[in-house]
Amino acid sequence: MSDCIFCKLANGEIPTETAYENDYVRVIADANPANVGHLLVITKKHTANMTELDEETAAEVMKAVRKTVIAMKTALKPDGINVIQNNGEAAGQTVMHFHMHVIPRYYGDGILPTWRQLHPEQVETHAAVAAIAAALQEQK
Ligand code: AMP
Ligand code: ZN
Repeated sequence: MSDCIFCKLANGEIPTETAYENDYVRVIADANPANVGHLLVITKKHTANMTELDEETAAEVMKAVRKTVIAMKTALKPDGINVIQNNGEAAGQTVMHFHMHVIPRYYGDGILPTWRQLHPEQVETHAAVAAIAAALQEQK
């Protein structure tokens, strides 16, 4: 996509701090990091989000995320690491080109909220899981 900034970053049209790249992904520094060393694993192919991601690229993304997490642990020695991926505006996605966040975490940094814990009726949980299970069965 010619007007997509992440396409330009992923394919090197706009230079950026790069930790790793291969035929499928580029791993770059987030411009507005939650912590120093916050990286984004961006697909080279334009894909809006995970619902559009093809299986081969999805597998390659996860391989690159795994390598990145291991390298971040070695290099920065954080207390922990979050891997986050937002799908859709309601989920906090602001750039509509698939990417995964890899964020080094430190005790007390307070950068991510934890969610409130619901206690739904068993019947509600069952209905949601059953609907998803049925949709999974229909997937190729
Ligand atoms: P998301 O909210 O999951 O869509 O995340 C988008 C991320 O992209 C945010 O963390 C932004 O800080 C980051 N971002 C936006 N523009 C750029 C850019 N030009 N270079 C690097 N990171 C960017
Ligand atoms: Zn794009």
